[in-house]
Amino acid sequence: MGSKNCDILIHGGGPVGLACAAWTLQKFPDANLILLDRNPADDADLVAADSRGIALSHGSKLLLNTINAWPTDCADIHRVHVSQAGRFGRALMTREELQQDALGHIVRYRDIHLTIRQALREIKAKSPNFIWQHLDGNHEHPVINARCIVHAEGGLFTKQDWVESGRDYGQSALVGLVEAENAAPHQAWERFTAEGPLAVLPSHYGSNILNLVWCGAPESSQQRLQLSDAEFLISLQNEFGSRIGRFLKIQDRRLYQLGLNYRKQITKANEVWIGNAAQTLHPVAGQGLNLGLRDAFLLAEKLAELFSGVANTQTPEQIQNTLESYAQSRKADRTTTIGLTDFMARVFTSNLTPIVMARGLALSALQWLPPVKTALARQMMFGRR
Ligand SMILES: Cc1cc2nc3c(=O)[nH]c(=O)nc-3n(C[C@H](O)[C@H](O)[C@H](O)COP(=O)(O)OP(=O)(O)OC[C@H]3O[C@@H](n4cnc5c(N)ncnc54)[C@H](O)[C@@H]3O)c2cc1C
Repeated sequence: MGSKNCDILIHGGGPVGLACAAWTLQKFPDANLILLDRNPADDADLVAADSRGIALSHGSKLLLNTINAWPTDCADIHRVHVSQAGRFGRALMTREELQQDALGHIVRYRDIHLTIRQALREIKAKSPNFIWQHLDGNHEHPVINARCIVHAEGGLFTKQDWVESGRDYGQSALVGLVEAENAAPHQAWERFTAEGPLAVLPSHYGSNILNLVWCGAPESSQQRLQLSDAEFLISLQNEFGSRIGRFLKIQDRRLYQLGLNYRKQITKANEVWIGNAAQTLHPVAGQGLNLGLRDAFLLAEKLAELFSGVANTQTPEQIQNTLESYAQSRKADRTTTIGLTDFMARVFTSNLTPIVMARGLALSALQWLPPVKTALARQMMFGRR
């Protein structure tokens, strides 16, 4: 196979890599861009893939709407109830007090993935120099000479082939779809248990079918995965309580290891890292993909501006400067989101009495200090701007 030349090469066809390609081409349809995608070309092969519910912020919805990539199967969150199992301290956030249509939206990973793929296909039809290459076992890896390389290979904690800075929280997340007897529509629950946060989130299947994200010690999470459905439901009921009635059914249980892995430097010469390839976060604050989409959007803006100038006139120094300017513009949002998520993951998994007390006080303060609550919610919804 001969070699190919391009201006921009994106490695990784997950939501972040796809969205970065789509936004770049939307702003500059003539971009000489190659996307290398390990996923199969046929959507039918992805339909049975990752069905975990992901919380996307209103800010992400606005971004995805710009490329017509907002999934129709989506549940809006109108209220979030935060509490500690067996301890004092609770907070309730509502869309009314934040004057928003919704506090967030829950969408399955595969629906986000498939919708952005579809959006990119539509943009591809108007992008003469765009190549979307699917890598599968039958084809030799192409040799590509790229002037700028974007890494969006993503990955999960402990499954990535790089480890830089971060923390192993010694936690796993058990996710699944659970049916409850009497859940209020559009309500999300985040409950801090002795082993970690337990979130029960709405789904598009109806108000009594909920997405479960139950974080706990790896050994107990593994045991919960192996319990029979009936035993699992009893164990969940004991931990969550009876606020939404009895839990009736559980399906599609899966386990993920959790930790923080992030690069201190997200650019090097003509290379740049975005999304999970730049930072992998604990899901306690539901920020990983939201942050990755903001990475993709800003990088696309910079790349489109750079390469829409006269073809082949961009020097390596200009390319490097553009990437450094991108890294600089992402610094505040990255640092705040990584720091806030790490803080929450550590504070909400500690059982030390002073921390448990402080946590209760913090939740109460959140309830009684509306400006603090609003500031926190805005950071979660839109990132640092
Ligand atoms: C349990 C759990 C719950 C979560 N909940 C939330 C949430 O509520 N809200 C939120 O915002 N985030 C959440 N996240 C985080 C979110 O899933 C990730 O941040 C997001 O998937 C990152 O997208 P990505 O495209 O960067 O990476 P990925 O989703 O990992 O996609 C990367 C893609 O690149 C492909 N690839 C890998 N290597 C190569 C290569 N060499 N060449 C070509 N392709 C390659 C992979 O096959 C994959 O398709 C959660 C994560 C977990 C584990």
